[in-house]
Amino acid sequence: MSPLVLASVLIVVVIVAVLIFMLSVSGLRNRRTGATGFVQRSALTCPKCHESFEYDWVPGEALTAVRLGKYRYMACPKCRKWAMFDVWDAGVPSPPTGH
Ligand SMILES: [Zn+2]
Repeated sequence: MSPLVLASVLIVVVIVAVLIFMLSVSGLRNRRTGATGFVQRSALTCPKCHESFEYDWVPGEALTAVRLGKYRYMACPKCRKWAMFDVWDAGVPSPPTGH
């Protein structure tokens, strides 16, 4: 094998490695931006202090809460007590169209 062939093989290997690295980085970035695109806003009422608050959450992800299906067990931002919240059914309806 001549040194020229060895050098070209090395260049191809480096290009492929860089491509794989770029793909993995962009994949992570896409996953992050895609997640923020699915943020849901729910108007929740705390069963402990009966205060209402808006809660932004991402379906399938629970960063600060325990995910139990459509329920979240999390701390109320008003009274800081932990309670079960039905985030799915409490979704803020989209604004009416045509008005
Ligand atoms: Zn509360």
